[in-house]
Amino acid sequence: MSRRARGPAPHESRGGPDQAAVIELDEAGSTPILQQYRAVKAEHPDALVLARLGDFYELFGADAQEAAPILGVALTGRGFGTAGRLPMCGVPHQAAPAYIRRLLDAGRRVALWDQVGEVVAGRLVRREVGRILSPGTAGDAEYLDESRMARCVAVHCAGGRVGIAAFDAAGGELLLTEVAGGLDGRAVHDECERLDAAELLVADGEGVPPGLLGGVVRTLLPAAFFDPSRARDRLLAATGAATLESLGVDGLDRAVPAAGAVLAYCERARLTLSPGFVQVRRRGAGATMRLDAQTRRNLELVAPLGGTRTSVATLVDTTRTPMGARLLRARLLEPLVEPAQILARHEAVAALVEASRLRDSLGEALAAVHDLERLVGRCVQGTASPRDLGAIRRACAALPAVADILQAAPAGELVAAAARCLAPGDLSRRLREVLVDDPPAGAREGGWIRPGGDAALDELVAAGAEARSWVGALEENERARTGITSLRVGFNRVFGYYLEVPNSHRGAVPADYVRKQTLVGAERYITADLKERETTVLGSRELAVARELELLGELRAAVGAHAATLLDAAAAVAIIDVDRSLACVAAEHRWVRPLVDASGVIDIDEGRHPLVEQALGPGRFVPNDCRLDAAERIVVLTGPNMAGKSTYLRQVALIVLLAQAGSFVPASRARIGVCDRIFTRIGAQDDLSGGLSTFMVEMAETAAILRQATTRSLVVLDEVGRGTSTYDGISIAQAVIEHLHEAPHLNCRTLFATHYHELTALAAELSRVGNARVDVLEDGDGVTFLHRIVAGGADRSYGIHVARLAGVPAGVLLRARQLLAELERQRPLGGLGAGPDQLSLGIAIPAQHPVVAELAQLDIDGLTPVAALNKLAELRERAAP
Ligand code: ADP
Repeated sequence: MSRRARGPAPHESRGGPDQAAVIELDEAGSTPILQQYRAVKAEHPDALVLARLGDFYELFGADAQEAAPILGVALTGRGFGTAGRLPMCGVPHQAAPAYIRRLLDAGRRVALWDQVGEVVAGRLVRREVGRILSPGTAGDAEYLDESRMARCVAVHCAGGRVGIAAFDAAGGELLLTEVAGGLDGRAVHDECERLDAAELLVADGEGVPPGLLGGVVRTLLPAAFFDPSRARDRLLAATGAATLESLGVDGLDRAVPAAGAVLAYCERARLTLSPGFVQVRRRGAGATMRLDAQTRRNLELVAPLGGTRTSVATLVDTTRTPMGARLLRARLLEPLVEPAQILARHEAVAALVEASRLRDSLGEALAAVHDLERLVGRCVQGTASPRDLGAIRRACAALPAVADILQAAPAGELVAAAARCLAPGDLSRRLREVLVDDPPAGAREGGWIRPGGDAALDELVAAGAEARSWVGALEENERARTGITSLRVGFNRVFGYYLEVPNSHRGAVPADYVRKQTLVGAERYITADLKERETTVLGSRELAVARELELLGELRAAVGAHAATLLDAAAAVAIIDVDRSLACVAAEHRWVRPLVDASGVIDIDEGRHPLVEQALGPGRFVPNDCRLDAAERIVVLTGPNMAGKSTYLRQVALIVLLAQAGSFVPASRARIGVCDRIFTRIGAQDDLSGGLSTFMVEMAETAAILRQATTRSLVVLDEVGRGTSTYDGISIAQAVIEHLHEAPHLNCRTLFATHYHELTALAAELSRVGNARVDVLEDGDGVTFLHRIVAGGADRSYGIHVARLAGVPAGVLLRARQLLAELERQRPLGGLGAGPDQLSLGIAIPAQHPVVAELAQLDIDGLTPVAALNKLAELRERAAP
């Protein structure tokens, strides 16, 4: 046996007198519990094993050392004589979920080794591994963020295609899709990124690049988990379907094995995968807009870029159910591209915008549905509490109410959604009849079944009550019968109930009294009747709790049997909730319904950036129009730094995105020809982790856009070329614009912001390029930014003005102005066609230095060595500044 050499672990005191060496699990004696722990650990080597010992979950050995710092608890130890100390740590069972969540968040797998048998003093309790939790399979609400999915995603690559299967263990949805390319392809990347993955499953030996779902826990599975025929069987068994065709996933030769792997993995994690709960969906290719990570970040869709701002998701989220919040997030991340589908969403929102009272009552009804999806999941997994069942009962009552309210707003997607708000009548009735009004979170205390809810339980309770009242009346009755006024009825743990008679009355004790205990001045007795009642009193409570637990199982199963209907209703409620939320936002912030069509234009009146507008406060944001159409596809937007260029770019992109996600938009009017994709290149962010310079990142992103954009895309480029020298930057920016304009597969709607005012000259050369600038008001030395976008190009930049605004000292500003004047005199930039040494688009190259010109002309052969040396000295003299 090896002894691992290691220093003291965290939390361990160093070198105290009783500080024995740290030993491993294998070396730590052989108490029965440790023997069993070792066996469990051997079965689950990749998980931290939490053993339930009394009121605690304990970890031993290396698991304890690994977990203690994550849990933030002290690492203690248990001594094993001269062998040393076995590291240990523990958390209270009551608070376990919060601790387990920490382990999961840290990417660990956890095996819960629970007590399953009865606790009998002096005997080892039977224990079993009930659940194995991992970030992607811990589908329990206790471990999850309410507003986010935590999907378990498997990928499987073969023959140039990748199959992806993503399972939501909390709600049972299993998504299958396939994309072309290899595992290192961008398509797989984008697809996986959109799935809110919490864990990635890959076959051992499959070359999955580390960048694929970089921050997500990765689990290697044996290749056999991906076996196609076993995968098919698993899918059919989990869904109860007869064929893959009936599930709509036939032909997905890569995604089906991936799905098989996910299901096998979840089975191994002891999740219940039952038909009705597992709902297979095929993610349609091309039905939604692909948004890359930069665009999601730049537009602050789900996370703000910094400062005190909120994200778009937070701004538009007034949902009343966690399901709605999750769907809203998903819709923002996957806007639609089909005008008809978008229309159905807008109609729904429009109907609710009009009706504020209806929105209020709908909100109340929706709130009562709560997280029906995950509640059903808990029933299927056997973890639902009486309180959860109470919540399901409330949801069942609210569903018809939701449908009822919507009768007043039968519009768009609300029509179909309302029709799906069905609560299974028999289940609702049963929950109403059986549960008390306010069931508790814990089942073990009992008392949460309504009187009359279950005949067997009623009998037990009645018998218990009868026996208790019999015992309660016993003292009085026996005093009357025996005439012993000092007779007392009592109870102790050893003898149970007894009748106590002082010695002075011993003679009056009736014959049916059986002596049990002798005290100093009294005797204690029992009777056969009392014993019988005692058994009932003590036993009925236990039996009643057992019966209630049995009923809990039955009720969970009853919910599970209706899982398909309930989950469908939950999905419909999420849709209604999202539409209502968007209607509230539209009404509150005066957003309008956009017209979305296949026209290829973007035509916005008085558009606003919702987040900047909110940050600035009422009345301070300056709205701006935007027009991009067949005649003008590209707008070059010039203006000084800080004038509002990137705000404008983001706002246009956001309005398009919101419109296609189904929302109203912050503008006074908008017509959006659907975009197949939105590309944004905004701001310079160093990819320090990737070791790339700002400029390299900028160019890589620009290259990706130029390769992937199509005629139907919206491209938003901010300050491309900023990361390099002026001439480089202008040249690259110009070439990019030319390419977007000329390449036949592009000619896409483009907003190009730049502070190089020289680029405005392009509009004269390229027919579909127009100029716009951010207006500034000049007064004397200063400028005021009006944040108003007007037609035409800026003819100068205002860097020094911005420097002044930023508080750069006056002396420095004065010097900067002198230098600028000097530079402009020496090397004029701009002025189209000003001379033969300028590029065709007003971009000047510096005039040649006279020394260089003379050097070029020099006739070396006609010079003597001395004359050459003299010439050289003279040239050097003139070249020196
Ligand atoms: P640029 O990209 O031109 O450097 P930004 O778009 O970053 O400028 O805008 C700078 C600041 O100007 C923003 O943080 C915002 O406070 C303000 N701003 C931008 N656009 C507007 C607007 N339309 N109305 C009011 N303030 C605006």
